[in-house]
Amino acid sequence: MLQRLLADRVRLPHALMVHGPAGIGKTEFARALAAGALCESPRDGLACESCPSCHWFSQGNHPDYREVVPEAAMEDDEPPEVESAKAEKARSLVIKIDQIRAVADFMALSTHRAGYRVLVVNPAESMHPAAANSLLKTLEEPPAGSLIVMVSDRIARLLPTIRSRCRLLALPMPAQAQALAWLEAEGIARPQAALAGAGGAPLLARELAQPEEAELRRRLLQELSKPSGADVLTFASTVERTAIERIVYWMQTWIHDLVQMRLAGSARHHVEFLPALQSRARDADLHALLALDRDLVEARRLASHPLNPRLVAEHLLMAYNRATSAARP
Ligand SMILES: [Zn+2]
Repeated sequence: MLQRLLADRVRLPHALMVHGPAGIGKTEFARALAAGALCESPRDGLACESCPSCHWFSQGNHPDYREVVPEAAMEDDEPPEVESAKAEKARSLVIKIDQIRAVADFMALSTHRAGYRVLVVNPAESMHPAAANSLLKTLEEPPAGSLIVMVSDRIARLLPTIRSRCRLLALPMPAQAQALAWLEAEGIARPQAALAGAGGAPLLARELAQPEEAELRRRLLQELSKPSGADVLTFASTVERTAIERIVYWMQTWIHDLVQMRLAGSARHHVEFLPALQSRARDADLHALLALDRDLVEARRLASHPLNPRLVAEHLLMAYNRATSAARP
């Protein structure tokens, strides 16, 4: 797909929206696309990995390339312990208007290497509405030689005006055998379980297999497995703002498993918790589970905005306890 897109450079659109499920490699695709467009001696359209342009790109300092991500997602060189907890909390989960204004100026300049000027916005749905409106101006009148690549796994959350100005490019979920082979090559333990937990998306599976992520999942699922219900206050008191989105994700997949267990006697995501799923599904109220699923969709929508993470976790876990206590006195 990448090759086909790059084969005919003159017909590359000014703006592309790369979208699809989380964790299937959209960021890597967007970067490979950028590298290919910037390369000075492309091979079949793809980056040659040996010209000056490719060298700068791999070093992360190509003068005609910018990537815009929320502050909280920025890779920094400081070891995490140097940073105070307060600074960590203050890092934004949204892309701010100042960030977009800065790159709009960059896009308006002429290129250093007389080729493309490439901007990647990732994830596009994390743009603050004011930032999205600001980017709209650049999308409406793209400077010559500009390529804007947006990356999104929740395309429905984007302003329609943004979406309509991009060529949409849906990346498919990779085949299971291919994904498992890749996870094995990455050294992920129990690749089958990891891939199932991530709903088939290999990069998400690798991310979720990291020790810190695996520990959060283990602690949460342990709570959700308890026949007496989750220990709401104790668990919620440990929840950080950056963990909310993940907690919501694990709860959603857990609820989906419970619903599937009730309706079909099987599970998809958390197969290694089968006995707990069976017992919780037995005690659960199906309608309450579906209502909680709707709450979780809403919580996920709000997870990137400032809020009180502990209250959110408390609310969700209490709703979970109510939904799964139908058989309790
Ligand atoms: Zn090159």
